[in-house]
Amino acid sequence: MPQLLPEPSPLSAGPDRQGRFGLFGGKYVPETLNYALEELDAAYESAVADPEFNSRLSELLRDLVGRPSPLYFAERLTAQAGGAQIWLKREDLNHTGAHKINNTLGQALLTHRMGKTRVIAETGAGQHGVASATACARLGLPCVVYMGAEDVRRQQPNVRAMRFLGTEVRPVETGSRTLRDAVNEAMRDWMASVKDTHYILGSAVGPHPFPKIVRDFQSVIGRESIEQSQARFGRLPDLVIACVGGGSNAAGMFYPFVQSTDVPLIGVEAGGRGGQPGDHAAPLTFGQPGILHGSLSFVLQDDDGQTSDVHSASAGLDYPGVGPEHSFWKDTGRIHYTQCTDDEALAAVLNLARSEGILCALESAHAVHEAVEQARHRRPDEIILICLSGRGDKDAAEVQRLLGME
Ligand SMILES: *Cc1c(COP(=O)(O)O)cnc(C)c1O
Repeated sequence: MPQLLPEPSPLSAGPDRQGRFGLFGGKYVPETLNYALEELDAAYESAVADPEFNSRLSELLRDLVGRPSPLYFAERLTAQAGGAQIWLKREDLNHTGAHKINNTLGQALLTHRMGKTRVIAETGAGQHGVASATACARLGLPCVVYMGAEDVRRQQPNVRAMRFLGTEVRPVETGSRTLRDAVNEAMRDWMASVKDTHYILGSAVGPHPFPKIVRDFQSVIGRESIEQSQARFGRLPDLVIACVGGGSNAAGMFYPFVQSTDVPLIGVEAGGRGGQPGDHAAPLTFGQPGILHGSLSFVLQDDDGQTSDVHSASAGLDYPGVGPEHSFWKDTGRIHYTQCTDDEALAAVLNLARSEGILCALESAHAVHEAVEQARHRRPDEIILICLSGRGDKDAAEVQRLLGME
């Protein structure tokens, strides 16, 4: 069984006791939640030291999720790019279609461990909602998912799936009626229900200890990638790329590589329609340090510090904040962050579909686009590894609409 926690190193030792990654992170929450967060931190630390917890989680990841996910050589995409080899870490093949299930199973097990009997979650595109609903069905926990009313309308297949799985979906009618409003509503519920309820946060964001816990549960992606790279290439890749929304698939992919400083890492944010406020969802590129949803990190905000509107064709990247550890990695220069526009991502979806027979999520296509750009300028013996975070069935209708392929 693989170990749950990677070895710490100076660049990956965070967070400290206050939940800080350098300047970033922390725990900016009302008193009521502080106790629950301390309880969660203690439960998590004891769980990772418990071989039974580890083997329970590993078993679920193997038999329910289908891990390890394959490492795949994108041969025709590589030939097309005409440079370095492009390899995909196939998180799209996981049960429920994305990396999110790695985290929800871990947190659902923690819910049991804390003796809590109810789960709440937020969701944007519905991927985290479906993954939470799945984990809760498997572990016999009642689950309520908050989802912006606008997203409920746009993501009907996922809403139906959650309801089939026995989860109650609560549409949120406040604000922009999207992901950030759903997070606000979930936090409000948690304030009132914290005694018996665990909040399964879906990305490496939020107050300490969530960024650490989500990163660690997702680090199975990077750990497997290292093992598989050693087995297939006898060494590590020359470049690793992942898309960044809240930053959980990227943190999971990058974290085990962070101490290998000769491996460059690139995170790709949502460039949307361009660089004007409201046209993108790229806080590491255009944001300023600020507090959103309980932690200090780069946030898209106006001159008065109000959180800005965001846009991305991919619902999973459409969030004005980002996990605090990414802000730290950006600040230290260990990881380079760039962007990919809606149009580039759309083209990359089609490109991957037609060259490899793989219909990937619009989110993941941001990483595919960057990989192809990088491959062009590199030698054929170089290896680029992408985290292909999810499959694209959910986006097929939207891609068709945006490309005018009626
Ligand atoms: C949710 C989602 C993302 C973005 O979330 P991160 O926390 O940044 O990983 C990316 N890809 C897919 C397929 C998703 O479902």
